[in-house]
Amino acid sequence: MLRPGRLHAIVAFALLTVGGSAAQGASGANLEVLQLRPNFYMIAGAGGNIGFQVGVDGVVVVDSGTTASADAVVAAIKKVTTQPIRYVINTSADADHVGGNAKVAKAGQTLFTGNGGVGLATNFLGGGASILSAEQVLTRMSGPSGKPSPFPLEAWPTETFGEPRKYMYLNGEGIEIFHEPAAHTDGDAMVFFRRSDVVVAGDVFDTRTFPVIDVAKGGSIDGEIAALQKLVDTAIPSVPIVSREEGTLIVPGHGRICDQLDVVDYRDMVTIIRDRVRDLMKQGLTLEQIQAASPARGYTRRYGSDTGSWTTNNFVEAIYRSMNKKPQ
Ligand SMILES: [Zn+2]
Repeated sequence: MLRPGRLHAIVAFALLTVGGSAAQGASGANLEVLQLRPNFYMIAGAGGNIGFQVGVDGVVVVDSGTTASADAVVAAIKKVTTQPIRYVINTSADADHVGGNAKVAKAGQTLFTGNGGVGLATNFLGGGASILSAEQVLTRMSGPSGKPSPFPLEAWPTETFGEPRKYMYLNGEGIEIFHEPAAHTDGDAMVFFRRSDVVVAGDVFDTRTFPVIDVAKGGSIDGEIAALQKLVDTAIPSVPIVSREEGTLIVPGHGRICDQLDVVDYRDMVTIIRDRVRDLMKQGLTLEQIQAASPARGYTRRYGSDTGSWTTNNFVEAIYRSMNKKPQ
């Protein structure tokens, strides 16, 4: 998390609380819009954090929040700019990150005039914005064939990629999308806006809790640590003049804006707990015995929980199961 002084400075000049009629959708969502850079904004309060870049080419949005917040998200973007939304990039297939896809894309306009891509035509959605993700996100959102899809067709990605690094150049800056193949899930993407110097990290980084590792959806502890390391390697802190408190900004999947040192701390925490679980596994302890040994001690007050959808025991179990999956 940013040092208090810095966060205060950002909030002081850039917090546009979007209250009132325009941004309140059916959900009554009360969103916060933070201007992080001259042409880069973050929306909090719509599920997962949303980032968006604005420029002459239009708007590039990373994640779309929950379905219930979608109208409010569109209103918040339109309050900042009259430029059309061109891209929605998804960081995973989680409902709090892709739920608004259909509405946000429909509110936009494709960059392409004809059918330009493989798979679904780019004039799909009547010429709305493209929805871009790793291939695995489309697989998750469409579901196995012969069964009802978890998400409606209009919310699915219209463009997918399989390479580790996908890139675009829009609004005068390079945009790099890093696919992390086995971290929070198998379809995680982290989106780096190179000139704005902002990374939208998705749920590989969650400042409120231990990272959510969904082993059933291809997540793993080692892939999670690799993704955090990639974030550390991508970001640059304010050195050598540390008093300036500048540097790369990292938008986590949930929680406050961070800098490189915050990710270093988080990576170290996750690595220490992984190592403790691994040592206990080597001693032949069962999962229950390992959980009882509190391998997350020292971090539970800040990141842990005994209740809710992601408990400390869930995290320890995810480490155990993903390490057990590996060939011995
Ligand atoms: Zn999330």
